[in-house]
Amino acid sequence: MIPTYGTPVLELEEVWKSYPGGVHALRDVNLTITEGELLGIVGPSGSGKSTLLHLMGMLDRPTSGRIRVRGHDIERLGDRRLSALRGRSLGFVFQQFHLSDGMTATDNVATGLLYTGTPTRHRQAMAREALERVGLADRAHHLPHQLSGGQKQRVAIARALVNRPALVLADEPTGALDSSTGHAVMDLLRELHATGTTIAVITHDRELAASLPRRVEILDGRIRHDTGTRPPTKDPA
Ligand code: ADP
Repeated sequence: MIPTYGTPVLELEEVWKSYPGGVHALRDVNLTITEGELLGIVGPSGSGKSTLLHLMGMLDRPTSGRIRVRGHDIERLGDRRLSALRGRSLGFVFQQFHLSDGMTATDNVATGLLYTGTPTRHRQAMAREALERVGLADRAHHLPHQLSGGQKQRVAIARALVNRPALVLADEPTGALDSSTGHAVMDLLRELHATGTTIAVITHDRELAASLPRRVEILDGRIRHDTGTRPPTKDPA
């Protein structure tokens, strides 16, 4: 077993996901993500990353095994409570940004609060604060088509952060960006991690994964290597 430190935000235990026809997309996956981590989940096409992301994001349920999000066993939750737990606990960042065209940056970010029960009057202020965290306070009233690719991804990251999630799941967040913009987006994720945000990046890019504090390598539906959670750094005596 790989030792873990800190409070677990997501735990997968002996998770299998099988599809009709005998395809085992995930095989006996054990993975614990603890508060404050920044990790990369890396594997080639077809290795099971999307399937894993769907299970981690509570968008699908495993064929067998156990998944806990902030200690809640998702097997015991009905769809409504699962959606509520997802809305409160997780933020998603996608390769293609998925911003709504007719909405300003602020309104796009505020959609991240839709299912959290946040009163409407607070949403705009929280959205503006999240835009500030990603360095886009001056683009609050811009529409997506008035923003560069990198800025769009920053808006999407602000939307993922606005509900202060326990975990941000970023699916190929640099996949649609040129390399220098991609590096800038990764620098932003590192900065957010440095201020306490827990982030899992799902990627096929080994170089990108190698730049992260923890790497989980997946192949043929199995975790082949996990560099593990680091112990908290001790203050020098
Ligand atoms: P990745 O995201 O790493 O490319 P996927 O999770 O999409 O990998 O796929 C893992 C394996 O599961 C592949 O062999 C894929 O063909 C299979 N698979 C994924 N989704 C389905 C599905 N809905 N039905 C059948 N097989 C699937």
